[in-house]
Amino acid sequence: MNLTLHLTDNCNLDCSYCIREKCPKDMTEDVLFRACDLAFSKGTKAGLCFFGGEPLLKKDLIYKALDYCEEKSQKTGMLFDCKMTTNGTLLDEAFLERARSANMGIGLSFDGKAQDICRVFVGGQPTSSVLEQKAKLLLSYMPDSVALATIAPQAVPYYAESVRYLHDLGFKRVSFVIAYGKKVSWTDSDLDLLRTQLELTAEYLKELFIKKDDFYMSAIGAKIRDCIRGKNPAERCHLGVRQMPVTPSGDLYPCTSFIGDEHYLLGNVFDGINDAKVMELAKRSSVPMTCAGCDLVKRCTNSCGCANRMNTGDENLVSPLQCTYERMLIEISDKLGEELYQIDPERFTKQFA
Ligand code: SF4
Ligand code: SF4
Repeated sequence: MNLTLHLTDNCNLDCSYCIREKCPKDMTEDVLFRACDLAFSKGTKAGLCFFGGEPLLKKDLIYKALDYCEEKSQKTGMLFDCKMTTNGTLLDEAFLERARSANMGIGLSFDGKAQDICRVFVGGQPTSSVLEQKAKLLLSYMPDSVALATIAPQAVPYYAESVRYLHDLGFKRVSFVIAYGKKVSWTDSDLDLLRTQLELTAEYLKELFIKKDDFYMSAIGAKIRDCIRGKNPAERCHLGVRQMPVTPSGDLYPCTSFIGDEHYLLGNVFDGINDAKVMELAKRSSVPMTCAGCDLVKRCTNSCGCANRMNTGDENLVSPLQCTYERMLIEISDKLGEELYQIDPERFTKQFA
C-alpha cells in the first residue's frame, strides 16, 4: 500500500499559503519502521512518499526508511517505490546520490518567478537564488524530476513567465496548481488575469510543440490527455484508498487536509487500519451533487475531497473558485489541443493519446 510519511511538522520556510500548522514535532524511528511494515502489509507493492513540513529536515529518517524497505523488498519479493516532495533548500549531493540509487521520484516545490513572493525562509529571506542552484543540482542527478508550482493570487502575474523559466532551467515536466485554503483569497480580477496567463502559457506550449519539445505542463496537458483518453475512473479521488498520510505520531488519515480531525482518524501504525471506516469513506467519495448534469463532469477534478474540504469545509462540495478554474482550464486546453492536432496529428497523438 501507499503511505505519505509526514516525517516532521517543522519547516525551514514560511510560505504564504502553507496549510500546515508548524510545530517542532518529528516522527520517531519506532513510528517510521511500523509505517514501513504497514506499507508492506497489503498488495504487491509498497510505496512511500516522504513529506512534511520539510522532509529533508529528517534526512536521517529517510536513509533509515530506504535501507529498511530495500531489505524488506528483497526478503519479501514485493516491489518498493518511493518519492518525495521537498522545498529543495536542503538538497545536497550525498542525499541525491542515495535518492538516485533508490530510484526516488522527486517533486521540487518551486514557484518559478513568483518564488520570493510566496516562498521565503522563516525570517523572511528570499529563497529564489538558493532554489535555482538546487534545481540545477537536482536535475544534474535526476533529470526527470518535476517542478511543482502553487499559484497564489499574488503569483498570477508571473504564471506564464514561470512556466517558461522552469522549462529553461531544464525541467521536462512541471505541475501548476492554484493555491487554496484559509490563507488565500481569490478575487474576480485575479481570475481574469489567470485566464490571460493561461492563454499566454498555451501559446508558449504551442511554440514548444512546433519545436518538437516534449515539455509537459500538467494543468493543461492533463486536460488534453483526459479529453482524448477519457478520465480513468480509478484516478478519481477515493479518500484514504490510493494514498494515506501518516502523521509524526503514527496516526492515519484519508488525506492531508483531514489531519487532526478525529472524525476522520482511520487508525494508526501500531494498531492498524480501520478497514470498515476506509470503505465507508471511499463509498462516500463520488461525484459532488452540485455537478450532476454538468457536461464537464468527466474531465473535472471536482472529486478531490481534500481540495473541496479546504475550500468549502465539505469533501463533496465544490467551491465556485474550483468550478470557475476548471471551466477556464478545460476551455483553454481544448482550444490548444485542436490547434496542436491541426499542426501535427501524428505527434499530437503520440504525446497525448
Ligand atoms: S515548504 Fe511546504 S511545509 Fe514548508 S512552509 Fe512552504 S508549503 Fe509549508
Ligand atoms: S465544471 Fe463545475 S459544475 Fe462542472 S463538473 Fe466541474 S465543478 Fe462541477
